[in-house]
Amino acid sequence: MVLDDLGSSLRGTLDKLRGKSRLSEEDIEEIVKEIQRSLLSADVDVSLVMELSDNIEARSLEEEPPAGTPARDFVLRIVYEELVDLIGESTELPLEEQTILLAGLQGSGKTTSAAKMAWWFSTKGLRPAVIQTDTFRPGAYEQAQEMAGRAEVDYYGNPDSEDPVEIARKGLEETSEADVHIVDTAGRHALEDDLIDEIEQIEGVADPDTSLLVLDAAIGQGAKEQAQQFDESIGIDGVVITKLDGTAKGGGALTAVDQTDSSIAFLGTGEEVQDVERFEPDGFISRLLG
Ligand code: GDP
Repeated sequence: MVLDDLGSSLRGTLDKLRGKSRLSEEDIEEIVKEIQRSLLSADVDVSLVMELSDNIEARSLEEEPPAGTPARDFVLRIVYEELVDLIGESTELPLEEQTILLAGLQGSGKTTSAAKMAWWFSTKGLRPAVIQTDTFRPGAYEQAQEMAGRAEVDYYGNPDSEDPVEIARKGLEETSEADVHIVDTAGRHALEDDLIDEIEQIEGVADPDTSLLVLDAAIGQGAKEQAQQFDESIGIDGVVITKLDGTAKGGGALTAVDQTDSSIAFLGTGEEVQDVERFEPDGFISRLLG
């Protein structure tokens, strides 16, 4: 059964429905309130929470549970379907030659995610390369090099260059033996114009198959503006949520997915290159509601 791993408060409310085959309006209202509470405390955008809970409430009231389905399972199924509808399946990433561009603010976890994703592709039998174009953050070259080394994947960067676009161009040439090129970019503390200009130029040179926005699980309401800006400038195909080993639940990613009409590609669950998972809706939804 999906959503086994629910938070105690929501589970408590649902457990009160055990044995019931029909739900009253009060039952549904109580569940919807509990779901709203869970989603808001997981940093899901307020308007999204309202939209979701309206849909859940309307469907629970209108639809007839299939014969023999306990009310509790019926409501859980609706909650799950509505969330899956919003989040979708994992971003499609074919196991073949491709270029992936990473975007995001400084500290979101781009460099770590580049190495993690490269490691993940290497476990699928492909030959990945990480290209580090971040000339802004001191130590970015060494950090990416060290992590690519730990992931045992090809690496290109140039600590003596201040031209990220040229590094991207050269990096793709120099790593032509690799099948999967993961291009890491500089972040800034905020969405400044020069950051957007730079990533647009890198995108022009790298011509990525997929552009992913890397978001810290704790991002919360700030996700909307970032997602919108990066989507307008380079087009976002998917989201990577990092630091899910912490307490944050990553609800901001839903806002980003909704804003960019995309999906979630990977989850980061620690500081090591192996701490990465391909997104799958079940576990993530349980966590959001937990
Ligand atoms: P960037 O500026 O976007 O390239 O971010 P970094 O990749 O340098 O990551 C910033 C910090 O977050 C580093 O200290 C990373 O070790 C840490 N970090 C990145 N991803 C994760 C994760 O999934 N879990 C944890 N606990 N830390 C992470």
